[in-house]
Amino acid sequence: MSKIKAEYIWLDGHKPTSKLRSKTKILDGHVKTIADIPQWGFDGSSTMQAEGRDSDCALIPVCFVPDPIRGGDHILVMSEVNNADGTPHATNTRAPLRKVAEKYKDHDPWFGIEQEYTFFLGRNPLGWPEGGYPAPQGPFYCGVGADEVFGRDIVEDHMEACLEAGIMISGINAEVMPGQWEFQVGPLGPLAVSDELWIARWLLYRLGEDYGVNATLHPKPVKGDWNGAGAHANFSTKSMRARGGIKVIEDACEKLKKAHERHIDVYGAHNEERLTGLHETCSIHDFRYGVSDRGASVRIPMDTAKAGKGYLEDRRPAANMDPYLVCAAMIETTCG
Ligand code: ADP
Ligand code: MN
Ligand code: MN
Ligand code: MN
Repeated sequence: MSKIKAEYIWLDGHKPTSKLRSKTKILDGHVKTIADIPQWGFDGSSTMQAEGRDSDCALIPVCFVPDPIRGGDHILVMSEVNNADGTPHATNTRAPLRKVAEKYKDHDPWFGIEQEYTFFLGRNPLGWPEGGYPAPQGPFYCGVGADEVFGRDIVEDHMEACLEAGIMISGINAEVMPGQWEFQVGPLGPLAVSDELWIARWLLYRLGEDYGVNATLHPKPVKGDWNGAGAHANFSTKSMRARGGIKVIEDACEKLKKAHERHIDVYGAHNEERLTGLHETCSIHDFRYGVSDRGASVRIPMDTAKAGKGYLEDRRPAANMDPYLVCAAMIETTCG
């Protein structure tokens, strides 16, 4: 019987931001459904998920995709982490999202997440002169040419890998700061968009290994007059997408305004370095929404305003946010 390599991926207990971990299990034969993938375990004392004694944590497969790097029948397996007694581990942020998604499933929430990130080569952003700075921002966003764009080969490889894995990647673009890029995942339901975003992040780091380049999701990778990195969350419910949906979107904005602090709490660490009011952001201390306003906390896209229905864009989440937490907060605030 043929052997397949299953790469189990999970979130660790690193604070304040969980990191991705993974390891390989050899399985016999072909995997058709999630039930064909066995539960597994790992040493939680090495991932900040357990004390030295009694350190076993369980890995519960929740979704799998073809492994675009190993090819063949090999797979990537997104996993939740449970305690030995079967309860969700404290770091398992997917388990609460499962409950929220189930409770509000009649609202049919969709998410499209714009994942910004920055390539680093050693201590410098990719393409930056050693110990110095490139030309001021301006020509780099959606730029072309070897003097403006750095890392396109990795970005193209990553996009292709996401497509081969069946991830709902909806586009890529070079960002405002040189060495900074974005890809988008969605629109999808909350669990799917989050699982796929985590797998897409894993693929980005993994492919970076082959180039000796690492991607960071830090929201302010270079201090000073340089753009930060966000993860705009585009969001809609069934009633927002239906006739008269603009009213539902405006109501949702009012609810988001009241819950601003609760949202900022789960929108990523160090986000105060990014949400300064400069560089197409609103200050972390304010909440504003508006049509086409890229300096607002929440933007209502022009097309949505024109059509009178559509979606909203929460511009506050940082690039390093956990989509399981962000999706849960958005659904609970706007549908609750
Ligand atoms: P921006 O103009 O802010 O750069 P992008 O084109 O990068 O926007 O990303 C927009 C995202 O919104 C895409 O991932 C897209 O799939 C998603 N999207 C489109 N329509 C909806 C919708 N109705 N609900 C949720 N997300 C949506
Ligand atoms: Mn975008
Ligand atoms: Mn962007
Ligand atoms: Mn955006």
